[in-house]
Amino acid sequence: ETPPAAPVQNSQKQVASSRRRSNVVKEVDRIKKNREERRAKQAEQAQQKLQDADGNHPQWEFLKMIREYIEDLEFNPLNISDQVYDHQITVCVRKRPLNKKEIGKKELDVLTVPNKDTVLVHEPKLKVDLTKFLENQQFRFDYAFDENSTNEMVYRFTAKPLVDSLFNGGMATCFAYGQTGSGKTHTMGGNFNGKNQDVTKGIYALAAADVFKNLQKAAHKKKDVVVSCSFFEIYSGKVFDLLNKKAKLRVLEDGKQQVQVVGLQEKNVTCKDDVLKLIAHGNTVRTSGTTSANQHSSRSHAVFQIVLRKRASGRLFGKFSLIDLAGNERGKDTASSNRQTRMEGAEINKSLLALKECIRSLGHKGAHVPFRASKLTQVLRDSFIGDRAKTCMIAMISPGMNSCEHTLNTLRYADRVKELGPGREDQN
Ligand code: ADP
Ligand code: MG
Repeated sequence: ETPPAAPVQNSQKQVASSRRRSNVVKEVDRIKKNREERRAKQAEQAQQKLQDADGNHPQWEFLKMIREYIEDLEFNPLNISDQVYDHQITVCVRKRPLNKKEIGKKELDVLTVPNKDTVLVHEPKLKVDLTKFLENQQFRFDYAFDENSTNEMVYRFTAKPLVDSLFNGGMATCFAYGQTGSGKTHTMGGNFNGKNQDVTKGIYALAAADVFKNLQKAAHKKKDVVVSCSFFEIYSGKVFDLLNKKAKLRVLEDGKQQVQVVGLQEKNVTCKDDVLKLIAHGNTVRTSGTTSANQHSSRSHAVFQIVLRKRASGRLFGKFSLIDLAGNERGKDTASSNRQTRMEGAEINKSLLALKECIRSLGHKGAHVPFRASKLTQVLRDSFIGDRAKTCMIAMISPGMNSCEHTLNTLRYADRVKELGPGREDQN
C-alpha cells in the first residue's frame, strides 16, 4: 500500500515551483523590458548629443575637434597621495569648472588637464580662408589642478609646505594670480554659496588651522612663539588696513632697506576661530561701500598675513603672506578713456611685472630684487630676501572659450615666473 500523499505532494511542489518559475520569468522579462527601454532612451540622448555636436551647438565644429583631440589622451590626474615637493618656488595652475551661466550659454570648455602637471589649451582659430582649426598648446607646471579639485587638495600641494617652513623661521608668500572670475577669491578666501562665502574652506583658514596644529607639536612648542594676523589691501598704490576701518597707511623704508607699513594692525590670535572672524570681518570691510564685490576686488590686491613672533622679545620669527591679486586683465586698462581707470591699470600692470621679477630673483644670491618698483613688492620685500624665503603662485584659469586669450596670458606669465634662467639649472 503506497500512501498517495507523496505524488500529490510532489505534484503540488511541481505546481508551486512552476508557478515560481513563471514568476521569475515574468520578473526577468520585466527587467529586460526596463533595460531595453533604458537603452533606447540612452541611445536617444546620445543621438541628441551627437546632433548637438553636429549642428545645434553654436561652436559644434570646435567642440567636435576638441572631443576628437582628447579622445586619444590618457588621463591621469593629480592624486591626494602624490608626492609634495619642497621647492623654493612653486608654480601651479588651477582650472575652475564652467559655471551655470556659461553652461547656459553653451560656452565651450577649451581647457584640458590630462595629468598632474600639464594643462592643454585648445585655442579655436580661423585660417585666412575662414576654415576653423585648433591650436593646441601645452603648458607644464609643478602641479595642475583640474576642475574637480577641491580647495583642500590645492592647499595640500601649495600653501601647506609653506606653513611648515614658517616654523623654521621662514618667510613665505602664496599668490593667487589670474583674470577676474577665474577663482582667486574662491581659492584663497573660501568657496561661495551664492553670495555667502564659506571662509573655513579657503587657503587663508586652512593655513591658519595648520599653524595652530603645528604650534601644539613638542618641537615647535619650545620655540615659544605667538601668532598674530594682519589684513590689508593695496588699491591704486595705496595701502588700506582691513582690520582698522580701512585706515590709509604709509609705507616707509629705513636706512637698512627695512620696509614698514606704519600703524598696520597686527591682531593676536589664539585659535582658528579667532582667525576666521578676522578674515570674515576684513572681507566685509574690503567690499563695503562698493557696488560689486568683484568690481572692487578686481582692481586691488588683498594681503592676509600670519605672523609668528617670539613671545618674550616680540622679535619676528616667521611670516606667511597670502595674496589675492588684482585681476591681471586690469593691467590692460591703460587704454581706457577714464583717467582714474587708466592710472589703476598702469599701477596693477607695474606691480604684476615687478612681482614676477622679484620671485624670479629668489634664491639668486646677490640678485637684484626690484622691490621698489611697486607698492605690492615693496611691502613684501622681506619675503623676497634670503635663502629661506619661499613662494608659491597659483595661476587660476577660466575654462570658457571667451576667456581663452586671458588664459593664455595667465599661463605665459606663470611660465616665466619659473622659467630657467642662467644659474637656475640646479634649482628645484
Ligand atoms: P576671482 O576672485 O578670481 O575674481 P572668484 O573666486 O570670485 O574669482 O570666482 C568667480 C566665481 O566662480 C565665483 O562664483 C566662484 O564661486 C566660482 N568658482 C571659482 N572657482 C571655482 C571652483 N574651483 N569650483 C567651483 N566654483 C568656482
Ligand atoms: Mg576675487
